[in-house]
Amino acid sequence: MGDSVTSAADSGTRPRVFLEDMGCQMNRLDSELVLGRLAGAGYERAGTAADADLVLYYTCSVREHAEDKVYGRLGALKRMKQERPELRIGVMGCMAQNHQEELFARAPHLDLVIGTSRFEDVVSLVEEARSGKRVLAVDRKPLSFERDVTARPRRHQAFVSVMRGCNKFCTFCIVPYTQGREQSRPIADVLEEARRLVDDGVVEITLLGQRIDTYGADLRDGTNLAQLLTRLHEEVAGLVRICFLTSHPNHMTDELAAAIADHPRISRYLHLPVQSGSDRMLQRMNRGYSVADYRSAVATLRRRVPDLALATDWIVGFPGETEEEFESSAALLRELEFSGSFVFKYSPREGTRAAEMADDVPRAVKEDRNQRLLALQLGMSAARKQQRIGLELEVLVEGPSKLDESVWSARSAWNEIVCFKAAGDLQGMLRKVRIQRATALTLFGTPQDEQGAAR
Ligand code: SF4
Repeated sequence: MGDSVTSAADSGTRPRVFLEDMGCQMNRLDSELVLGRLAGAGYERAGTAADADLVLYYTCSVREHAEDKVYGRLGALKRMKQERPELRIGVMGCMAQNHQEELFARAPHLDLVIGTSRFEDVVSLVEEARSGKRVLAVDRKPLSFERDVTARPRRHQAFVSVMRGCNKFCTFCIVPYTQGREQSRPIADVLEEARRLVDDGVVEITLLGQRIDTYGADLRDGTNLAQLLTRLHEEVAGLVRICFLTSHPNHMTDELAAAIADHPRISRYLHLPVQSGSDRMLQRMNRGYSVADYRSAVATLRRRVPDLALATDWIVGFPGETEEEFESSAALLRELEFSGSFVFKYSPREGTRAAEMADDVPRAVKEDRNQRLLALQLGMSAARKQQRIGLELEVLVEGPSKLDESVWSARSAWNEIVCFKAAGDLQGMLRKVRIQRATALTLFGTPQDEQGAAR
């Protein structure tokens, strides 16, 4: 093919972008914002890299595996770039911030490296790259949080970023280095964005922040997450569910627990990573709390919201973790009856303090601990799901099930997936469903009402 291939961008048709996002919800939102800005500049979505004039990877640096995947993707594009030199390829997000110029050295066919503070400038940076320059944009600057609310993939659901960055510096985590210091948005901005989203059809928002329960601390005017949730609940009519991610145990206050308890449209699902059931491991991770502190945070929450579904994260095989320390994690999982667990096998991230510790737990032992913790959680989740049989739950319909288009997939306020059959277009509606049966991951039921409550 060679140089004779003319790109869509040059031929007068609309240029096409293929974007793949990896990692956390924050990356999903940033990818949506990037696509929104590119759509505003005339770009169309392409289904594959082969169909695109611009290929972007919105990357994650939290685990080695995620970075290896990007290098794999870039390697696969080398040939395409030789055949179509006008193709532009970019790496965005945490990996761009973390590795900067090194990415050009490892993938010389790369055109753009755009860090975590510069994604809002994607249109001008891509223009620069299209003029033939290699673009490195990794400097830090405050984000505007501006967005076109209509540019989003789901009609009824939206992510809303309420803060960026993290000041905690857990020893295993790269996020404070890639995302910078905590920067919160004023409440008025978040309310305004939520109202615009609702006007455009959204009924559920998920507020995002790395340590979202520290929201507002940097504004130094007394703003906090409890106030934000309360005001969203009271002032934004049309929102039927308000979710938030991710919390840190040190900031779980009674005021926040009370805000959840007093406002029924706030989700009854909380993600509160514990990471380990061993005080020595928590200290080495610099988590800033003990197991007793974590228990006390959970007690504060459950005192106010007894039926709260609590999900958590675990790291297995952190440097120096003994079998006994791992068993403390398993015991804590049983004791606190988590509704879900995300289990990660430790892998060192260059530049973090933990990477200087000896990674001394053999790979096979990490894998074994990972499987044991997952099996334990699965058994508990299955038992919990069985207890839901016979109950009537209010669920928000997300869309047709991926496995069976004739079945609706919905979520309860406890973040459970509930599937049921019903006629009509129910997306974005609340329905009451009586649970008839359950697997470890999904509830199945029959709808109890004819009319949905919201849309
Ligand atoms: S709280 Fe710890 S794990 Fe969470 S983003 Fe901050 S440094 Fe990373």
